[in-house]
Amino acid sequence: MTTPNDAKLDRIVAEARRSAEQRDQGYRERALKMYPWVCGRCAREFTRANLRELTVHHRNHNHSDNPPDGSNWELLCVYCHDNEHSRQADYTGVSALDAEDKPPAATSNPFADLKSLLGKRPPKDG
Ligand SMILES: [Zn+2]
Ligand SMILES: [Zn+2]
Repeated sequence: MTTPNDAKLDRIVAEARRSAEQRDQGYRERALKMYPWVCGRCAREFTRANLRELTVHHRNHNHSDNPPDGSNWELLCVYCHDNEHSRQADYTGVSALDAEDKPPAATSNPFADLKSLLGKRPPKDG
């Protein structure tokens, strides 16, 4: 059973989804119109035949930042694009790991053993 309200809601959801898809594909279309079909890293050239291997990279890694002048876009082949992102992941990964890797002071207290050693040591005879 479908009420008129449900049908209207379905249409709104469908339209919202479609416009989001168009927006995502929109920047790719625009970037491909704006820039020559050449990878910005390895200078590999592309044609319609292999155009799907040419991707649009966001220089600031923010995919919703799509200024109309294209200043946030860079055309990269899938390999260079992958490389670009793994480099970024490595960089942030290392610093995150570095921060996480430091154990809490309580578990790595170098004096904990010393203290127990001192406590166990028999008092010095006078
Ligand atoms: Zn490339
Ligand atoms: Zn990218």
